[in-house]
Formats: sequence, structure tokens, C-alpha cells
Amino acid sequence: MLTIDHARLRDAIAAICIAGGSEDHEARIVADNLVDANMAGHDSHGVGMIPTYITNLLNGGLKPNEHAEIVVDNGAVIVIDGRSGYGQVVGQEAMAIGIERTKRFGAACVGLRNAHHIGRIGQWGEQCAAAGFVSTHHVNVVGHKASVAPFGGSDARYITNPYCAVMPATDQNPPTVLDFATSFVAMGKIRVARNKGEPAPEGALIDTTGKPSRDPNIMYTDPIGGALNPFGAHKGYGLALLNEILPSAMTGTVGCRPETRFDPPKTINNMLSVIIDPNRLVSRKRFNEETDAAIANVKGSPAANPAKPVVVPGDPERMSWKKREAEGVPVDDETWREITESAVSVGMRADDLNDIAGI
Ligand code: NAD
Repeated sequence: MLTIDHARLRDAIAAICIAGGSEDHEARIVADNLVDANMAGHDSHGVGMIPTYITNLLNGGLKPNEHAEIVVDNGAVIVIDGRSGYGQVVGQEAMAIGIERTKRFGAACVGLRNAHHIGRIGQWGEQCAAAGFVSTHHVNVVGHKASVAPFGGSDARYITNPYCAVMPATDQNPPTVLDFATSFVAMGKIRVARNKGEPAPEGALIDTTGKPSRDPNIMYTDPIGGALNPFGAHKGYGLALLNEILPSAMTGTVGCRPETRFDPPKTINNMLSVIIDPNRLVSRKRFNEETDAAIANVKGSPAANPAKPVVVPGDPERMSWKKREAEGVPVDDETWREITESAVSVGMRADDLNDIAGI
């Protein structure tokens, strides 16, 4: 296991993106987004995504230096096309447009379609929260093989369709950031288990007969040898299905089906975001008081395990950030090997990458 200082890891990832054809500004946005996911503790959506990005880039499924394009404009209700550009860039641009519309109209509904992988969805809620806004984000994933079985099914029909809802900070509390895959765990967590040679979390996977499995390798065969379960049985599945339909049906694009798979595969996210300025409904003071009272109420519950007090969504990521800022970002050897291979495939020397990363 390597431990890399986060600033050096940002430089190393940016260097790979530049070698892949990105302008400096884009490379920096992508690197920051991925390393920020590692800092938040979500290694599944951190720098370990680079091999997939570079594969898609070399296959033409990811287009560098693209920008968000508004394709339907009804003021507070807009559809934006990501043009297969880096999701980190077009995601940030789409949210900036949504925030500007929310300032004008009090709320906005933003459909972002055809963005390459947009990473950790919490980032987009945090961008809205920084402007003082509440937001919800329904996301689906299209372009490669399905990985999640519907509740009661035995084969994969859709992908990990994350959901995110974020409340802005108050005077007393940082933003509440609820952000998760609707599968039992995010697919990246299966990749991390596979790379570490560890079993998949119990309950996460089924094999092709619908029986539980702990072998992460079954998810990397073609045809796929199993599927992720949805989280929360029929409830998680129901949310996943809404996430599957809303971002496609409301933006004029398609969801995950055998006929919408790309060859070679790519990783496209579609996202339906609703952004609301709470001050158009109540005063900031009233909103903050109620938010703070609710958080204090749940945090007042005596911990079942005294070593683990009650926290609210967003707290675990902030704790991880503090720790990794001080101690560095752990990157397992297999992930670094794959990242190095990607760097070499876009013309970098492995030694140069290691020098930049301080390894
Ligand atoms: P997870 O299971 O770790 O859940 C994370 C959420 O639960 C966060 O909101 C966190 O603050 C909250 N949480 C964790 N422990 C808590 C506790 N004890 N009390 C209260 N809240 C707690 O996340 P995941 O499902 O593994 O998803 C990881 C990341 O993967 C997310 O950022 C998600 O957006 C991302 N993702 C992206 C895509 C994509 O296609 N772009 C697909 C799937 C997942």
C-alpha cells in the first residue's frame, strides 16, 4: 500500500490528463475531483477511475476539452448536453448554470445528459450548497454492461444509479451531504476489494443463479458472472428505478439496456438535479434554526457503541478528509500499477509519474 501526499497526487493525475490531451485547466479540475473523492474516503470514485477514463479516452468514448451545451432552455427548466466531455468539467458547468438560474427564479430543474463519468455526486450537491441552495440529484449510468440486479431478479439490468441530496451549511453545522449508490455498495468498492485481493462485502453480490457470492472477480468476466444487489431490498430498488428513468426520460436520452451499450464501452452519466433557494420559502434564520434543531436532536441519541457517536451524512467524509490531509492518501499497489499503465499508454514515463507523485 502506498501513501501519497494529496497535493502530489493531484499533480500526478493532472499530468496524466494533460498527456491525454486535456488543457491544463481541465486536467486540474479532473485531478482535484478525483483526489477530493479519495480525501472524502470514497476510493471507489477517486484516482482509481483513471484507467477507465484513459481507456475511454483512447477509444474515443471520452472527449477532452468539451464543454456543457444548453440544448433546451425554458428559464428555470433546462437540459444540458455534456457532449461526452469529462464529467468533472461539464458537471461543474451544468451546476454553475443551475445555480445562476436558481438565483433568478428561486428554483431550477437541470437535466444533464451525455456527460462522461461525473465522479462523486456529492460534489455537485456541495457546489449548490456553497451557493446557499438545497439540491437533489438523480443519476443513471449508461454505455457499458449492467451490474445491478432488480430486487427479486437474478441478473444485472442497470448500473449503480447514485442518489444525492444536500442541505447547505448553517451557522452551527456544515452541509448535510447524503450521497450514495443505490446498489448494495458502489461498483468501485468491488474493484477496490478485487485489487486488494479481499472478499466483496457480505450481501453485496449474487452469482448467476441468484445465490450470494463474496468473489469480486465475478463482476469482471464477460458475460458478467453475477450482479450487485440493490441496497435496502425493494426500497433501494425502487429508488434505483426512478434514478434509471428520470435522468433519461426527462432529458431525451436513453438508460441502461443491452441495446444502449457502446462498443467499445464508455461510461456516461445522466443527472436530473433540482436546486432550490430555501430563502424563497422561509427566512434564512428560520431555515437554519429548524435544521440545527433536527441535527442536534439526532446527535443527542446516546451512541449504541460509545466509540461511535451518531453522525449525520457528510460527517464521515469530513473526518476522512482531515485524516488524509494529515497522513496522505492510501493507494493500493494494484491501483497504482493500473494508473501507471494508463500514464504510459498516453506517452508518459513511469519514472516521471513516480517523481511527480513523490514515490
Ligand atoms: P456509502 O455507502 O459510503 O454512503 C455514503 C453516504 O452515507 C454519505 O452521504 C455519508 O455521509 C453517509 N454515511 C456514511 N456513514 C454514515 C453514518 N454512520 N451516519 C450517517 N451517514 C453516514 O457510499 P457509496 O454508495 O459507496 O457511494 C460512494 C460514492 O460513489 C458516492 O459519492 C456516489 O456519488 C459515488 N457513485 C458515483 C456513481 C457515478 O456513476 N458517478 C455511481 C455510483 C456511486
